Amino acid sequence: MEESQEMNKQTVMLVQPHSFSHEPVPVCDLKKYIKSCLQMKWQIHWDQEIDNKLHSIKPIIENWSEDVNRKRSTILTRLRIGHTRFTHRHLLLGEPDPTCPHCSCTMSVKHILIECKHFKIHRLRFFNTSSPTLTTMIGRHPHIYLFEFLKIAGFYPHI
Ligand SMILES: [Zn+2]
Repeated sequence: MEESQEMNKQTVMLVQPHSFSHEPVPVCDLKKYIKSCLQMKWQIHWDQEIDNKLHSIKPIIENWSEDVNRKRSTILTRLRIGHTRFTHRHLLLGEPDPTCPHCSCTMSVKHILIECKHFKIHRLRFFNTSSPTLTTMIGRHPHIYLFEFLKIAGFYPHI
């Protein structure tokens, strides 16, 4: 404790060639500045990751509170990154991509959640719309009926 207080009281002299001030800078301010620079650099990198499934749901890098229930939290994470046992186990088994039996297109989390016509009636029931967005369903504040929808759609045990 004393050591950390001592660290906070420490100052660093920043001598920059074009700086007008040669005042000492507290270490805590320097840490905030470095953290801010790293956050900005990370965000710039993340802004270019437009093909990443998570990017469309979480374009801004920030902490999202997790569900206190471990299983629900795991399911949400898998849905957000678009990787589930159902949609990706073929890679481990060396099988072809799974296709939707109703639409004959490649199965994906996005297809099940918002695209497949087969689940339209369930979307209307749980989300009051046949075309909810991924952000509405699995964004920062997941829809309260998301898990009920997943269970009715038969997807829940395969995530
Ligand atoms: Zn479909």
